[in-house]
Amino acid sequence: MSLLPIYTFDHPVLRKETAKIKEDTGELQHLIDDMMETMHNANGIGLAANQIGKSLALTVIDVSDFDDFEDTEPLVLINPVIIGSHGESVFEEGCLSVPGIREDVVRPSEVGVKFLDRYFKEVEMEGDKILARVMQHEIDHLHGKYFIDYLSAFKLSFLKNKLSKMKKGEIEADYPLAPPPSSKTKSKKGKATRM
Ligand code: ZN
Repeated sequence: MSLLPIYTFDHPVLRKETAKIKEDTGELQHLIDDMMETMHNANGIGLAANQIGKSLALTVIDVSDFDDFEDTEPLVLINPVIIGSHGESVFEEGCLSVPGIREDVVRPSEVGVKFLDRYFKEVEMEGDKILARVMQHEIDHLHGKYFIDYLSAFKLSFLKNKLSKMKKGEIEADYPLAPPPSSKTKSKKGKATRM
């Protein structure tokens, strides 16, 4: 297994709709193991494949550190679709691709999700509490959406500096990162043309 760098805001792969997975391959199983390791190493509770640069409809989730979910095994969701939702709750979210920012987001408090597990078995699962939260956050990633996309323009205005630094790759975390591809070339160009 290997640790993969996590792509950060606003890498193009994180804004793109991911592709549905059509077949089980050794490579896919390997990727799932790497994603699990990468998520655990970063102390994350969810990781989408495009967060490690693979534009595939695949996410891993592990909420077993939370009350009421101690017995929940780490989940692998292939081609997940939200088939129903209920209620509303506010929760302070963070994201491994947007380090250092945490904000309240309103979402349905319960969801039903249909997906294939890592053995390509069709699963329908209902989630509430933290599980509902992570499933929605990760499925959003697969559609090119960040949690910060839910914030008001007013709230975002306070994050403007942090986010523009992040776009330039001026960012640190206690896990390996892959900043946007343009960030390095841009700063180089900037230096060359500065007078
Ligand atoms: Zn995220």
